[in-house]
Amino acid sequence: MSALTFMEASPVRWIRPQRIFWPVNSLIIRTCAARTMTTAMVKVTLAPVISRTTGPEVAAMSDHNNCSHNCSSCASGCPSGQGPQSLLKPANQHSKIKKVVGVISGKGGVGKSLVTALLATAMQKKGHQCAILDADITGPSIPRMFGLSEKAKIYKQEILPVEAANHIKIMSVNLLLANDTDPVVWRGPMIGGAVEQFWTDVCWGDIDYLFVDMPPGTGDVAQTVFQSLPVDGIIVVSSPQDLVGMIVEKAVKMADMVHIPVIGLVENMAYFQCPSCGDKHAIFGESHLEQWCRDYQVELRAQVPIDPALAQACDRGDIHTVDAPWLKDLVVGLEAL
Ligand code: ADP
Repeated sequence: MSALTFMEASPVRWIRPQRIFWPVNSLIIRTCAARTMTTAMVKVTLAPVISRTTGPEVAAMSDHNNCSHNCSSCASGCPSGQGPQSLLKPANQHSKIKKVVGVISGKGGVGKSLVTALLATAMQKKGHQCAILDADITGPSIPRMFGLSEKAKIYKQEILPVEAANHIKIMSVNLLLANDTDPVVWRGPMIGGAVEQFWTDVCWGDIDYLFVDMPPGTGDVAQTVFQSLPVDGIIVVSSPQDLVGMIVEKAVKMADMVHIPVIGLVENMAYFQCPSCGDKHAIFGESHLEQWCRDYQVELRAQVPIDPALAQACDRGDIHTVDAPWLKDLVVGLEAL
């Protein structure tokens, strides 16, 4: 059932449309508002336990024609009514997504979006159809990195992602805002609702790898993504500083709580290679992440240097033209997922 029909079938959950900085389509705002309530309600009931059930159970649930998706009143006897209630949402009916990969960081500004963009580009070059769901709702930088100027279109109450020059499909709140500089002034549950909608209402089509660029930290949206999307694995991005390592630890522990495997850690800004002499300099001091990875049994899969060419490509909006040889091992890891 789509978000829209779900809302219309459940008048109790209807609240007034909220037109806060999202003037594109009032339908989207209305569904968002409805979801705000359900998300909040679910959280009240399940707050002490972060849990989710697995993809096959959701598939079984959607195969079950009589399932009303409300276990307290439904008598269909489908798997969702047995054991803990699944919080996973079925993807849009026109999406066939093979793997979902979350990209997380402990704090902002460590290069998480850059790594997401480079990785998706590297995977796309290897012949895999990739997509990026920009879940960093209040700080979306993916459209700018790919130089997108086109806005997302709505077709038959569904949202069509925008394709970058290298055919990676992208959905981000900035593709819906009238002006890229409009702020998104929403509270947590509303933001979580928007991220869920990027999963349920966007026609992604056939996708081999969907990368979810998460907001930094372990807040509301990270929980929504881990609980609502069938994430196959996460990639952790960090800079070499100790403090960041400590914050990253929280993100890794959170993934562990929901039994999502950590594919590996990317150390961004790991060093600067002098263009004259070729020497490598640890600008942020010697990294302790290798030791940290051993302690937490997380693989250090890539070390990305500080490179002004990367920053320039982000600013010019042509990140899709950049080769990222440092991510080779991670690409292999993803193909083995
Ligand atoms: P986050 O998603 O963690 O907030 P971003 O990926 O948006 O951070 O990175 C912020 C900016 O920092 C990028 O637009 C880019 O200009 C710069 N940056 C990140 N990593 C590097 C790097 N390794 N070399 C040069 N500039 C970088």
